[in-house]
Amino acid sequence: MVTVKKNNILKELLSEKRKSNPEITIGFVPTMGALHKGHLSLMERAAKENDLTVCSIFINPLQFNNKEDFNRYPRLIDRDLELINNYCNIVFIPEAEEILSDKNIPVYDLGGLDKYMEGIYRPGHFQGVAHIVKLFFDLINPSRAYFGQKDFQQLAIIKYLVKSLKLNLEIVECPTLRERNGLAMSSRNMLLNQSDFEKAAIIYKILTLAKKTYQDSIITVADMKKWVNWEIKSKEFFKLEYFEIFDAQSLKPIDNWTETEHCVACIALYMGKVRLIDNVIIF
Ligand code: AMP
Repeated sequence: MVTVKKNNILKELLSEKRKSNPEITIGFVPTMGALHKGHLSLMERAAKENDLTVCSIFINPLQFNNKEDFNRYPRLIDRDLELINNYCNIVFIPEAEEILSDKNIPVYDLGGLDKYMEGIYRPGHFQGVAHIVKLFFDLINPSRAYFGQKDFQQLAIIKYLVKSLKLNLEIVECPTLRERNGLAMSSRNMLLNQSDFEKAAIIYKILTLAKKTYQDSIITVADMKKWVNWEIKSKEFFKLEYFEIFDAQSLKPIDNWTETEHCVACIALYMGKVRLIDNVIIF
């Protein structure tokens, strides 16, 4: 595995690879580091489906609307490099000064998909994500880029961006990997103490139970929202930000199951200072 820090070195390296094999396929996995098996599953898939795998590790300050969250975000670069050595050919660890040197940050059309959920609680977050992801796509020009369903709204927004800008790459959607207790794997889980880590398992239990009540045809959208709100709010260790049920494509909240062909229930909450998100595809 080669580690690259500068944009021009990355470009040169990739253009050499393309010169020696014009048909080469490149799989790209953008991350913010503090890697876990969820990230590795994306890289493993990229390695299987492409000739060359590039991953990036960059904690993008533009996507943090909360300075404290940015400062607390785990940074474990040496451990990360060891973990991904077997999966990636090139790891790109850019320096913030170079990546953020252009002060002309465009405003992207995100099709209104940033209006709900994370968009409400993290203003500017998705513009920050879009800016860096687009910049990395331009630098790397991958054949495929891999994103997790764990960040459902992000995935929908990236798919929209690629379509609206007519970028020539495929976005590959990857399932959420979970801890043994069901908690969605996340770099932020490292910030939970053991007791909170165990209690956090309730989030997925509630989501799967909510899905089951739909499958058993015994609940309306409004009642599901009421029930999940009650379940979460009755636990003093959770502070709920939102639980919403959305059309999987437009990300618009639904009032009736008949309004949509695919829908997803998304949740965001705090345990102490740690913000956790998860979702379940209802159908
Ligand atoms: P992050 O480092 O949090 O920006 O995540 C980088 C990529 O890994 C994103 O596409 C995430 O959706 C994906 N990812 C994060 N957690 C998981 C997980 N538990 N399972 C699968 N993919 C994940």
